[in-house]
Amino acid sequence: MIPFSPPRIDKRVIDEVTKALESGWITTGPRTKEFEKKISAYCGVEHTVAVSSWTAGMEVMLRWLGITEGDEVILPAYTYCASANVILHCGAKPVMVDLNTSDFNISVDAIRKAITPRTKAVMGVDIGGFPCDYDEIYNLVNEEGIRSQFIPGNEIQKQLGRIAVLSDAAHSFGAKYKGRTSGSLADITVFSFHAVKNLTTAEGGAICLNMPSPFDNEQIYKDLCIKILHGQSKDALAKTQKGNWRYDVVEPGFKCNMTDIQAAIGLIELERYDSENLPRRKEIFDRYENGFKNDSWAILPPHTTEEKTSSYHLYLLRIDNITEGERDRIMQEIFDQDVSVNVHFQPLPILTAYKNLGYLIEDFPETWNKYHNEISLPVYYDLSDEQVDQVIGAVKRAVHQVKG
Ligand SMILES: *Cc1c(COP(=O)(O)O)cnc(C)c1O
Repeated sequence: MIPFSPPRIDKRVIDEVTKALESGWITTGPRTKEFEKKISAYCGVEHTVAVSSWTAGMEVMLRWLGITEGDEVILPAYTYCASANVILHCGAKPVMVDLNTSDFNISVDAIRKAITPRTKAVMGVDIGGFPCDYDEIYNLVNEEGIRSQFIPGNEIQKQLGRIAVLSDAAHSFGAKYKGRTSGSLADITVFSFHAVKNLTTAEGGAICLNMPSPFDNEQIYKDLCIKILHGQSKDALAKTQKGNWRYDVVEPGFKCNMTDIQAAIGLIELERYDSENLPRRKEIFDRYENGFKNDSWAILPPHTTEEKTSSYHLYLLRIDNITEGERDRIMQEIFDQDVSVNVHFQPLPILTAYKNLGYLIEDFPETWNKYHNEISLPVYYDLSDEQVDQVIGAVKRAVHQVKG
């Protein structure tokens, strides 16, 4: 069986994890701090906070922004449930909008139509690793007519003076937009380092801080390090220093710090990300593209344009002119040939939790259009060319079986 997205675990990763264990320091410590600095350097931001997951990181940032009951956050209907759940956890309303026709990302026109005086943030999701239209989103939230209807709910929102631009970059570590790297494209970007993501720490995430002046990102970094550790004024490492036992709790904070064991995996992943991981992913994308480009039924995902370069996280193949049921049957035929495939994503409005909140898939035609005929193909470092060819063959046979 060809798996969908296994992590790359080799001797280098195992050795570094072993070293972390043998160091005697296994929670947040030197490796986590080094990982944060290296992510900042990679992404072109000054400060990054490593956390236990994307979900924890984004919720902390929504709360830091003061997003609460009565507020609205705009996001695409086509995303993973985490994107909406963190908004709901804060008591705010996820305002779902539809996609561009040309890619899988949130439509800026749809954002414009959804903005109200209650809108506090827009969350772009870089689906498959392909960056959203961030300049257009910034232009929109900076428009005079839109700024003037923004009602700040606290000092941070007042200082920002407009709708915050957030990036769900769970897929897009290493992606480029107009020469800049994902992490530096929004006010706040959150990465996921979950086991299936491009860069993994088993579970984990990172918050890249890119708040505009006059915000002091270094001060925000310091505040967040306290916020993610129960509001404790000293972390575990600081408390081990001789006689330095007393601490204060300055606010009832969260508990979502990254451990040095996780950071050990991440440091090795990051070190070889540009030299090994991304180039191999690109080769796999190119091989899929060549394999399907002459099939009239194949709709290939965009991954490189003049302005954008994907992180090649998901190969979102679509099959023209089929129903959702036919897509499901094609997937079964592919599985029967020992190839694992997936769907990214089941739109939130078709899932029970969001249906119960009143969201209707009929309101998101482009989201349905993208979802109903989509099949995600395996992409990971250890996938060989022969296996890619096996996937291509399995997909072709399955499509012909179902479509005739
Ligand atoms: C994986 C994923 C998340 C959640 O990441 P965790 O680290 O598991 O919390 C959020 N958004 C998208 C689009 C994802 O794919």
